[in-house]
Amino acid sequence: MAYNVAIDGPAGAGKSTIAKKLAEKINFIYVDTGAMYRAIGLFILRNNISYDDVEAIKSAINDIDIKIEYKDNKQLVLLNGENVNDFIREEKVGIYASKTSKYECVRSKLLDLQKELARTNDVIMDGRDIGTTVLPDADVKIYLTASSKTRAKRRYDELVAKGVECDINVIEKDIIQRDEQDMNREISPLRQAEDAHLVDSSDMTIDEVVNYILENLIKIH
Ligand code: C5P
Repeated sequence: MAYNVAIDGPAGAGKSTIAKKLAEKINFIYVDTGAMYRAIGLFILRNNISYDDVEAIKSAINDIDIKIEYKDNKQLVLLNGENVNDFIREEKVGIYASKTSKYECVRSKLLDLQKELARTNDVIMDGRDIGTTVLPDADVKIYLTASSKTRAKRRYDELVAKGVECDINVIEKDIIQRDEQDMNREISPLRQAEDAHLVDSSDMTIDEVVNYILENLIKIH
């Protein structure tokens, strides 16, 4: 049986950084489900479809093929065969991802792919609905959060390090707006699963969070 770790939480809580480090340490596959929603957001954006136009999105969804591959332990998202990893990190794509992820046709497109990856591999999977919907029987569930100020500062530092020009106040505003959308949508809203462990990383370093999870939550025999 594959061992599954589910990590959910709001934007910028450090989920992907922490999940990647955990996966490396215990030799699991890291599955970034946000990247899949971002790839769909990118397709909608590139094709000049309004994120409010559910009918157009419903028909566009049939033209979208999302595949996941792993190269040197790195997840590659293939959108209709194209590796889009380099295009999905922009804030604008994040906003499109969040606006379109509320639609049933978008969520059902990705659900089976996510379930199948976890059925066949030991995974650390992060997202918004992993513990509640995708992997309700996960071995470990973690709800990772931090204050919006801390999260905005982390995103800002990440973007600046990549040489992207940005404004920390705009980032914080986007983060708050995205949380609101993700927490208040009808289908699979972001919330802490009843059996998830709450980890607030506001005053913890990445390594402190990783060690805490390894020492206290993940029990591989
Ligand atoms: O985690 P990341 O910021 O890359 O996610 C982008 C967006 O994709 C989120 O704001 C959310 O709307 C959506 N998402 C989701 N369910 C997931 C993962 C991401 O709805 N499991």
